[in-house]
Amino acid sequence: MEDNKDIWVFAEQRNGKIMNVAYEILGAARRLADKKGCKVYAALLGDGVERLSDSLIQHGADKVCIVDNPLLKNYTTSAYTDAIEAVIKNFKPEIFLYGATTIGRDLAPRVASRVHTGLTADCTGLDIDEDGLLLQIRPAFGGNLMATIKCPEKRPQMATVRPGVMEKLPADLARKGDVIRYNVDLDEKNIRTKILNIVREAKHTVNLEEAKIIVSGGRGLKEPEGFKLIEELANLLGGVVGASRAAVDSGWISSDHQVGQTGKTVRPELYIACGISGAIQHLAGMSGSRTIVAINKDPNAPIFKVADYGIVGDLYKVIPILIDEIKNAKDASSVS
Ligand SMILES: Cc1cc2nc3c(=O)[nH]c(=O)nc-3n(C[C@H](O)[C@H](O)[C@H](O)COP(=O)(O)OP(=O)(O)OC[C@H]3O[C@@H](n4cnc5c(N)ncnc54)[C@H](O)[C@@H]3O)c2cc1C
Repeated sequence: MEDNKDIWVFAEQRNGKIMNVAYEILGAARRLADKKGCKVYAALLGDGVERLSDSLIQHGADKVCIVDNPLLKNYTTSAYTDAIEAVIKNFKPEIFLYGATTIGRDLAPRVASRVHTGLTADCTGLDIDEDGLLLQIRPAFGGNLMATIKCPEKRPQMATVRPGVMEKLPADLARKGDVIRYNVDLDEKNIRTKILNIVREAKHTVNLEEAKIIVSGGRGLKEPEGFKLIEELANLLGGVVGASRAAVDSGWISSDHQVGQTGKTVRPELYIACGISGAIQHLAGMSGSRTIVAINKDPNAPIFKVADYGIVGDLYKVIPILIDEIKNAKDASSVS
């Protein structure tokens, strides 16, 4: 166990593009590594992915370990597990972090079982204690309390981290790092799933986690038609529509719009909360937004405690005024 050192991040890529969450965990890993006095490694798996390593270094990695193999072109549980297992056994990381994406949530438990260590899923906070152990913080008991979990006896300490919770570092183009090419012998015969065809989901999904502007509606809308107004404002601002769980549970909008502890964690430049009270579980998903505007008719609504700008009033009166003002401003700027 004393051989284990350094913090590793699974640099998840899809179709040759690094997922945002990988940059976010790199930012967190950098902070933890500076506290511990160790290095940050990014594990980059794929086929022809070496060109992505500069960007990982610019966002906080000291070293990028590339496992390049045609069998890693598309994600399969067995090939990726074999590759990460080989990397862990060879490099002996002390900490290994994954994004809590569909891939991370599939891969991390399999790897944990292979290398006989623990795994804390869906962390929303990470820290290092005075003994240098990883503190893995996540909601527990239905979100009613936050648990801090340690893994003192097994290595690596492993966690998946929810997208949108950690802060990505700005790219430092002058940052230098090393690239290690590590070959893992993968055998096609051991890959039990065969990808015959990739069908991109035709369903319209909202990319709340990457949105710069989100306009969210809550129970204060009173009826599903209220989301038409929310959508109009969001479209005008070039943003997307979010929702509270109360609105989702009422069946007014689909659950992929839900922001919060059991919904998505978002970090936009601008978050406009309309008819949302600001329950702790909602705040858990949006309080990292850069600027928060709240529209609520109750001046004592808790949302005003986190809002940078608060408008006390009926959203059905306030939002149309905002829409008119934005349209006027747009018209004026297109004339001049
Ligand atoms: C384990 C657990 C997990 C949860 N996860 C989530 C989650 O992920 N996301 C989430 O959002 N919630 C979550 N919740 C639910 C959460 O506790 C709240 O019940 C929910 O956020 C309330 O939604 P709301 O603010 O839309 O509704 P309400 O709390 O009912 O608030 C409606 C607000 O609208 C205002 N209003 C009413 N009419 C108007 C009007 N005409 N104009 C302006 N304002 C008006 C009211 O003053 C009020 O403040 C969770 C709860 C639990 C127990």
